[in-house]
Amino acid sequence: MSRIVYVNGEFVPEEEAKVSVFDRGFLFADAVYEVTSVLRGRLIDNAAHLARLARSLDEIGLESPLPVADITAIQQELVDRNRLDEGVIYLQVSRGAADRDFVFPEDAEPTLVMFTQVKELENDPKARSGIRVISTPDIRWGRCDIKTTALLAACLAKQAASQAGVDDAWFVADGLVTEGSSNNAFILAPDGTLITRQLGSEILPGITRQVVLALCDETNLRFEERPFSLDEAWAASEAFVTSASSFVYPVVAIDGKAIGDGRPGPVATRLRELYIAKASAD
Ligand code: PMP
Repeated sequence: MSRIVYVNGEFVPEEEAKVSVFDRGFLFADAVYEVTSVLRGRLIDNAAHLARLARSLDEIGLESPLPVADITAIQQELVDRNRLDEGVIYLQVSRGAADRDFVFPEDAEPTLVMFTQVKELENDPKARSGIRVISTPDIRWGRCDIKTTALLAACLAKQAASQAGVDDAWFVADGLVTEGSSNNAFILAPDGTLITRQLGSEILPGITRQVVLALCDETNLRFEERPFSLDEAWAASEAFVTSASSFVYPVVAIDGKAIGDGRPGPVATRLRELYIAKASAD
């Protein structure tokens, strides 16, 4: 069955959804995006996702095509029209279509596209098994805090992981883990402290990361926001990643080295349960 997608003010079957070949999202990745999870037909942490969208737009000097309330209404309508019970909603804003020129066009209208994707979130098999990752040099640009569609480095990293027979990749710069290719990275040090890199231009300020850290606060789980090395990661008692489309995935191996006993750890499992409980209750 074909999906209904949203393109610039219209809800159309996906076969009929069209964007210009001159769209700057296509030509320059001059575009930002958001992914919000949907659980039992409800948008999870969406206000925070739209606040980050506003920040990304601001950082690239692009005005929001619509007020936040209108965007939320369209997201909800798309979820309803597609009867999406569990999955994600993707939203992208580009600077629009114009003759190819690096300098911003003066009169282009931004392109706003949204579509849904079905995905098992709560009973995701990867949450039960945990994922295996490899480390890879962080070859991305200097503004990873902006959620742009320029994701070639992430595609290359995920492809390398796939070819290595594992699930994902962690980016490493100067011996320090920055983040996962599409998620934030956490380790549990042998002394019981949870560690994740501090916010800055090297990582995306993950919404799920922020919620998980708030849950750590509420449950008195000690954490530090600081860079951690690949050596610390290999020696960790647990590791996990967070993102809207995975919630919390335990990491059971890094570069072929088992983390802890090589099975999903109790802290990652507990934080995942707490996250789902909070998302369901909000
Ligand atoms: N880092 C990167 C590089 C990502 O692509 C993502 C997911 N888009 C995240 C972190 C996680 O962010 P969030 O929890 O908001 O999905």
